[in-house]
This record gives sequence, C-alpha cells and structure tokens, in this order.
Amino acid sequence: MSQPPTEPSFRQSVDIMFNRAVALMDLPPGLEEKIRVCNSTYTVRFGVRLRGAIHTFTGYRSVHSEHFEPVKGGIRYAPSVNQDEVEALAALMTYKCALVETPFGGSKGGLRIDPREWTEHELEQITRRFAYELIKRDLINPSQNVPAPDMGTGEREMAWIADQYARMNTTDINARACVTGKPLNSGGIAGRVEATGRGVQYALREFFRHPEDMKAARQTGTLEGKRIVVQGLGNVGYHAAKFLSEEDGALIVGIAERDGGLWNDRGLNVEEVHQWMRANGGVTGCPAGRFVPEAAGLLEAECDILIPAAMEGVIHLGNADAIRAPLIVEAANGPVTAGADEVLRRKGIVIIPDMYANAGGVTVSYFEWVKNLSHIRFGRMQRRQEEARHQLLIDELERLSADKGLGWTLSPGFKEKYLRGADELELVRSGLDDTMRTAYQSMREVWHSRQDVTDLRVAAYLVAIDRVAKSYRAKGL
Ligand code: NAD
Repeated sequence: MSQPPTEPSFRQSVDIMFNRAVALMDLPPGLEEKIRVCNSTYTVRFGVRLRGAIHTFTGYRSVHSEHFEPVKGGIRYAPSVNQDEVEALAALMTYKCALVETPFGGSKGGLRIDPREWTEHELEQITRRFAYELIKRDLINPSQNVPAPDMGTGEREMAWIADQYARMNTTDINARACVTGKPLNSGGIAGRVEATGRGVQYALREFFRHPEDMKAARQTGTLEGKRIVVQGLGNVGYHAAKFLSEEDGALIVGIAERDGGLWNDRGLNVEEVHQWMRANGGVTGCPAGRFVPEAAGLLEAECDILIPAAMEGVIHLGNADAIRAPLIVEAANGPVTAGADEVLRRKGIVIIPDMYANAGGVTVSYFEWVKNLSHIRFGRMQRRQEEARHQLLIDELERLSADKGLGWTLSPGFKEKYLRGADELELVRSGLDDTMRTAYQSMREVWHSRQDVTDLRVAAYLVAIDRVAKSYRAKGL
C-alpha cells in the first residue's frame, strides 16, 4: 500500500480519532488514558512440524478493555498481521461492543500467516496449536475471552478452535461458548456467516430512513438504483453487495479485489462474480464486467456509495482528495486513516464509521454466545405456540365471516405468512435489525444535537466512550 510517510500507524489512527472525541468530553482525570490504552498483548511463537520441517509461527491476542468480561474480538490470518494492527482492532472492538450494547470488552487476535500457502490439514494443525497456546492462558475461554472469525478465517477455523477447547476442558459444560462464528453443527447460529454484511445492509437502510442525514450525504430517494463500489468481495463485502443488490435494488457498479477490479454500469451480478472468484481465486477473466487492472483506482470512481470491505488504511492521504463518493460505509475495520478522515470531512463526505457499520458480526456473535450458554436454539420453545395462537385468530375470523355471511377472504399468501412462527434465522435478523437501528439512532442523536459534533465517527466515539466510562465508574474506578 503506497502511503505517504507522514501517515500514522493504524493504532495511532484509532487513538487520534479517540482523542478527537474525548476532547469534547469531561472525563475524570486519568480515566481517558485508562480507556484508551490496550490492557495487554500476548505474543506467542510456536512451532509446528509440517512438510518434514519445523515451521515457526507468530500470533497475538490483545485485550484492550476488560470493563466487561468476556472480552470479544476476531482472529485474523494474514501475512501482514502485527502487534500494532491487533491492538488497533482490539480497541475498535471495545468501542464497537459499547456502541451496539453487547456486554463484552474488546479484544483481537491475529496469526502472521498466508492461509493460501497451506493445505486444509496443515491449517488445522496450525490453528489447533495456536488455539492450544491461547486456551492454556485463558485467552480463549467462554467467560473470559471469546474469539470469532475475521479476515482469512471463517467457520472452519472456529470449529477447530471449539473442538480444541473442548478437548482441553472436557468437563466444561459451556465449552461451545468459547468461540463464535462456528458452523451450525458445532453450536453455531443461523445467520452468523452473513451477519456482518447483513448489518451493513441494515445500517444503510436505517441511514436512508433519515432525510436530514441523506441530505448531508447528497442522497435522495431510496437505495434502489444507487450506484455502489465495493472493495473486497470476501465474507463482509460479498454479503453486503449481494443483499444490497438483490433485496434493495442497488447497482454494484464496481468491485475492487486483490488481483484487479470489475466494472459494469448496469450493475454487476454479485453471485456470478463470487462464483467466479471461488473457482478462479480472483476476478481476472470474469465476464460479469469490464476488467480494471488498477483495482485501487476504483475507490476514486464516481458513484453514490463507496463500501471499503477489505482491509485497513486503503483510503489515505495519498488518495483521499480523489475520492468522489459522497457517502462511505466502512464495512472493513479502519479503511480510512486519521489523515484521510480529515480530508474527507473537509470535502463534505459523510462516513458511516466502522465501529457501527460492521458491528453486525459481533451482534450475532453475541446471540450465538447466549445460545451456547442457554443450550437451546432460539425459537424452540415459542415457535409452535405462536403458530397456534395465530391459528386461533384466523379460525375466528373465518368463522365470523361464514356466520355473518360477510364473504371475507384473506389475501393470497397472508395466511401462510401470518401463521408461520419465527425460526432462529428470523429471530436473529430481527435482533440484528433492532440493534443496528437503535445504535444508529444513538449516534445520530449526538450528531444532530451537539454543535461541536460534525460527523458520525465522533458521535459514535462519544456514545461508546461514555458507556465504557460509566462501566468503569460503576466498578469504582
Ligand atoms: P475476508 O478474508 O473474507 O475477505 C477480504 C477480501 O478482501 C478478500 O476477498 C480479499 O481478496 C480482498 N482483499 C484483500 N486485500 C485487498 C486489497 N488490497 N484490495 C482489494 N481487495 C482486497 O475478510 P472479511 O472477514 O470479509 O473481513 C474484511 C474486513 O471486514 C476486515 O477489515 C475485517 O476486520 C472486517 N470485519 C470482518 C468481520 C467478519 O465477521 N468477518 C466483522 C467485522 C469486521
């Protein structure tokens, strides 16, 4: 990534944004520093015998704040993983959890590895060994530290971690709650895989419910027909792009990936691009749109909404001035550096900040953790009872209509829809939607009610820091 040398690191960027917010608060002396600093970072170097030799890997688990326990945050696999990045991501987790009211402190982990260089079996050995190191120090534990997927990891890795924990804690009845983002058959929850992308969709839908906010971002009408550019068609980017195009009628005109980008003025078929990437490992050659060799350039394309969903630091001092989208949704963590943030604000670009925009993942992770602790699938007790009560009402309406000769007929499909009790997926979506709406409203209230708050990021930090500060005060600090 070509960044001018004056650019601060990711962690410094997060701290600069934090400092901008606390300058507007009146925290007791010392509390600001207590909240800002990362409590601890554990670095582990471990060896695994693979391909006839011992390979040494470096991994991290940072705990940013323990005002609530367990602490929560994903585990990332990437060659660029380093302590600064993990600490920045852990801090963001603290603020994110506070903003969406999930009762967790912030944490994050990472393993410096390129997962594409290893076979599935090798990755399992590496993951189990990394998990072993963290589990024996309670850095993976249902009541202390609960990881989840992030860049380069997914359900498969979470299932290995859960199994490793269960092997090492054979009598822990809550073992499955030691990690979230697991597959359904290992104690996962319906709707977790797509949760972060779904949350991005719900965030945008909520934004478009507020004409005043839309006006600030030079948006009119609805999401239908909005021209969107997405960077990174991984877990988060793929699901966000898919739902926004298939369900809200938005046009995904550009997709920027590692090996290049795709452009189609009439909107790319997201599923087609996704399938192509699965088969070919990149977007090169995909017939869904025109190939653009310089993918990063797509960030500067003219569009209504830009969704960076790949990695941090992609909008920096070197390209911020060239960004033309009036609205940016930070689906990735930290895609805009602190310097770029200032440039974009000066240009009047509205940013829906990462700590809110990608909070769908941790929200549904929270539901999964609760499900694991309660040892029962959501909806299992109520669903049929709910259906029976609805049936009562329908029967009564039909009896009345027949008795009084009113000739009422219910519209087609209504009966089936009304009678169906909510299953786990519907409940998860409802809980996620509610969370995203409520959190947005808490941010926008601060954004619009205070003269000294001019953007959503500072508003988000103010809400989050205030809640963390209150927890610390309640603990007597
Ligand atoms: P992923 O590994 O599934 O996908 C990342 C995608 O970005 C891949 O398709 C990759 O090829 C692409 N990519 C990487 N570098 C790129 C570059 N320089 N230009 C263009 N494309 C590039 O990861 P993910 O889980 O979707 O995470 C993406 C971002 O979202 C990260 O910042 C992560 O921290 C954040 N996030 C993820 C979750 C989650 O639940 N997975 C939750 C919250 C936040």
